[in-house]
Amino acid sequence: MASSSTSTGRAEKARRKVVLLRRHSCKEQYEGPRRYCHHNLLAPRWTSWSEGNPGRRFYGCPNYYQDGGCGYFAWHDGGFGARANEVIKELLNDIENLYKENNHLRRGDACAKWYEELVALEREVMKMKSDFLVKESELKNVQCKFKLALATLLLTWVLLLLMYL
Ligand SMILES: [Zn+2]
Repeated sequence: MASSSTSTGRAEKARRKVVLLRRHSCKEQYEGPRRYCHHNLLAPRWTSWSEGNPGRRFYGCPNYYQDGGCGYFAWHDGGFGARANEVIKELLNDIENLYKENNHLRRGDACAKWYEELVALEREVMKMKSDFLVKESELKNVQCKFKLALATLLLTWVLLLLMYL
């Protein structure tokens, strides 16, 4: 059941963890005495999403997820046990699958929008083609009238020339 995590891209996993970390780590959520790291900074409570301790909360340096910070670390929760870890991992996999499904649906929406734009462009092209055919027909008509006028003028000149000769 937990096999889909192997097919997940690293970027997606990282994003999921970041979203969860942002949601669950909060400096103000303290139960009991405040904790301070070796920098003497208020140590926020984070949530671990490691394989061995998914969802287990701990206190760490404010820079814990950047470079490990000063190395201060203390668990908030006791260990959850193997079964609880298994259930949490399954739930994480479900979240991961929902992310994928959501992305897939969003791509579908984007495709639908592109299709609408394409249909609108096709209509515009058809209208331009139609306008072009009308203009082309008008141009041919004008060319025909011009040729007729030119022929009439030439004939008139020839007749006038013959009359004077
Ligand atoms: Zn620190």
